[in-house]
Amino acid sequence: MDISVVIPLFNEEESLPDLAAWIEKVMLENHFSYEIILVDDGSKDNSWEVVEVLQTQNPAVKGIKFRRNYGKSAALFCGFDVAQGDVVITMDADLQDSPDEIPGLFNMIKDEGYDLVSGWKKKRFDPVLSKNIPSKFYNFTVRHMTGIKLHDMNCGLKAYRKNVIKSIEVYGEMHRYIPVLAKWAGYKNIGEKVVKHSERKYGVTKFGMERFIRGPLDLVSVMFISRFVKRPMHFFGILGIIMIFIGLAASIWLGIQKIIELQHGVVGKLITNSPYFYIALTSMIIGAQFFLGGFLGELISRSASERNNYQIEKRTF
Ligand code: UDP
Ligand code: MG
Repeated sequence: MDISVVIPLFNEEESLPDLAAWIEKVMLENHFSYEIILVDDGSKDNSWEVVEVLQTQNPAVKGIKFRRNYGKSAALFCGFDVAQGDVVITMDADLQDSPDEIPGLFNMIKDEGYDLVSGWKKKRFDPVLSKNIPSKFYNFTVRHMTGIKLHDMNCGLKAYRKNVIKSIEVYGEMHRYIPVLAKWAGYKNIGEKVVKHSERKYGVTKFGMERFIRGPLDLVSVMFISRFVKRPMHFFGILGIIMIFIGLAASIWLGIQKIIELQHGVVGKLITNSPYFYIALTSMIIGAQFFLGGFLGELISRSASERNNYQIEKRTF
């Protein structure tokens, strides 16, 4: 099979028929063998009934329904799990992403050798203040923190070589950082394609203000995990050493001060009067806690089942 289109959807009943028909048209025109995997993320409207109808009309449509709303990442994860196409394309269900981009994305994976191609909504039709401006700032930050030069990291329209989606695990709300997960799994050939974007025709956006808190927190997690998940002591240990060193330096300074004072005949001045005492005390305690965190991290990663889960690309035997 050439292409699996994975579509997470939550309360998108009005968009689905148009979307399925449009994808079918593009696939037939380009003679692709394909499947459309519609993952209903616990919709409360009639989305699932619509999926069932679409399936009777077109056997390439496959549906998965969650009992409750788990989020876009969970929907993508389950879609990826069953996808069989050589190229897997994700898109939003709200008709904001255009199925006309499918052939171009497919070629970039098949012929140009990309592992992952992310859409770039260069001309974006979303609310300017709540989406477009924050998105620019967010993408700038993510570009510099992760070193992945994408203008639109969280674009719903993306294409993947099959291996990529089978070797990453999208969880929590990590759908925002799939290219980071892919790079971390060893897929470095990440490209970008300017894609058409439209206004939301039906329904409402599913991501509100909470994303301004969750997105950045997940970025911190992604950065930390990608670097230190297999060696937590290297993170906590360095912090611990810095803190203990500061504490030690402050203690030595206290000692020198005391000796100087005694030589000048000042007796009975308490070291607790010196700010260095408190610096020494707190930084040594914090340093010890960092070390403890490091040891606990090592214990946890030692018993993690995927601790020796490597991506082996080739073998000679
Ligand atoms: N979505 C989902 N589960 C959720 C939230 C969203 O499957 O909990 C789907 C939604 O139906 C749509 C896609 O994720 O197909 C993108 O959501 P939306 O269009 O609301 O995001 P926006 O384009 O406003 O950023
Ligand atoms: Mg949308």
